[in-house]
Amino acid sequence: MACPFFRPVQRLDGGGWDPAPRLTLFDAWSGVCTAAYDWTPPEATQREVCNCGYARGSCGRFPAGEAADAVRFSLLRERLIYVLEKDHAPIEHGEIDPVTDPREPLASQARAFLESWRSLLPRTVS
Ligand code: SF4
Repeated sequence: MACPFFRPVQRLDGGGWDPAPRLTLFDAWSGVCTAAYDWTPPEATQREVCNCGYARGSCGRFPAGEAADAVRFSLLRERLIYVLEKDHAPIEHGEIDPVTDPREPLASQARAFLESWRSLLPRTVS
C-alpha cells in the first residue's frame, strides 16, 4: 500500500530488500510527498514509509485527522480499481482512469501501478 499523500515520479531499483516486500505499486517508486507542500523525502523514507502506507504515527508529515491511511489498486477485467483504507479496512473504492482523473496524487499512483504492472508482462517476440 502506498501513502495517500505520495506522488510517485520514477521507478526505483530493487534496493537492498531481501526479500522485497509486496508493494501496492509493484515496484518501489521515488516521488514527492504532497502533504502540506511538495517535498522530496530521503530515499530510505520513500522506500520504507511512503511506498508502504500506514504512516500515521510514524511519519511526522502525515496530517492529523485525514481519513485514509493507505491506497491499493487492482485490475478487474481491464478496469482499474482503487481502494482507500483506514485501520486496515476499506473506506472508499471505485474505478479510476489514470489519464483523466483529476485527483492527485491518486491518479499518479494509478499511472505508476499500471506502468509497473505492464513491465511485469511477458514481452512478445516479433
Ligand atoms: S513523507 Fe509521510 S506523509 Fe509524506 S508521502 Fe511519505 S509517508 Fe506520506
